[in-house]
Amino acid sequence: MDLLDRLVDKGLRRARPTREEALAVLATSDDELLDVVAAAGRVRRHWFGRRVKLNYLVNLKSGRCPEDCFYCSQRLGSKAEVLKYTWLKPEEAAEAASAGVAGGAKRVCLVASGRGPTDRDVDRVSKTIEAVRERHPEVEVCACLGLLSEGQAGRLRAAGADAYNHNLNTSEATYGDICTTHGYEDRVATVREARSAGLSACSGLIAGMGESDEDLVDVVFALRDLDPDSVPVNFLMPFEGTPLAGTWELTPARALRVLAMTRFVCPDVEVRLAGGRETHLRSLQPLALHIVNSIFLGDYLTSEGQAGREDLAMIADAGFEVEGADSDTLPAHRDGLVTVRRRGAGTDLPPNA
Ligand code: SF4
Repeated sequence: MDLLDRLVDKGLRRARPTREEALAVLATSDDELLDVVAAAGRVRRHWFGRRVKLNYLVNLKSGRCPEDCFYCSQRLGSKAEVLKYTWLKPEEAAEAASAGVAGGAKRVCLVASGRGPTDRDVDRVSKTIEAVRERHPEVEVCACLGLLSEGQAGRLRAAGADAYNHNLNTSEATYGDICTTHGYEDRVATVREARSAGLSACSGLIAGMGESDEDLVDVVFALRDLDPDSVPVNFLMPFEGTPLAGTWELTPARALRVLAMTRFVCPDVEVRLAGGRETHLRSLQPLALHIVNSIFLGDYLTSEGQAGREDLAMIADAGFEVEGADSDTLPAHRDGLVTVRRRGAGTDLPPNA
């Protein structure tokens, strides 16, 4: 059995590929690229059919972060000319979320810059979650607020959040090369904290920051071990005014190989094509839909994406369909991990407590 047949076989059984197999995907030639995409596509269709889940970002608080993540335009001392503002009011955030929901988004991701929330911030975000829920009881709400302190994940869950995002970003070995103000273990702890509070965990990576193939494979296997329900794959946007400005390492083919490797290692998980897709995949974006089952709609936190209507046209042109609120994203064996709350805050029904 050759490499791709083995990976498809394992993907359909949720069996773990070897590290060598994952590395071999990254090392495939351009002549093999369409075979790699087709093989990853078989795994994708087995677990997710031709559905594409749309996610919509709302940046609740932008810029002026005290942390120094080298890839981030909102970092301490960043000279990137991104929007800088403090907390949106709950109604403003709900209004912003409505644009994404109107475009077909099934999940709203409420994001704030910063090391992590204070308890007052959690109160504020809880009100925002309730405001979004009031308008859109059918959508999933994910919070992304940085490192969580004890008890904060439970409070977000009680306020109606379905999920929490905190990315590992890169391998443990190279984490110190992209951030000095917090560590890899802090990130792992927050993902675990979110999961143990009953939130669906979302954790992913950024490719193109100078990492080796080994680093990419390490972070994707670390994610498999953490077992999040969704894995966003970002491609570095090297903002001017950040330490990684000028780091242009990716080609569209490389980006597809990274996505395919992630799909083979995390076969039944929502693999989400995230920041940098337009810039790095360029005209090959539709091929990525054969690998991932989820994308962000519209703009990112500090950069603009292609117009939402172009995303929708791309999905239709490539023969995929937008996933509706009435279908489950994850396969049945993962059921119960992403259950949209329909009781408690924001409803007439009592909470589950
Ligand atoms: S990634 Fe988050 S914690 Fe790091 S600098 Fe950017 S906003 Fe701050």
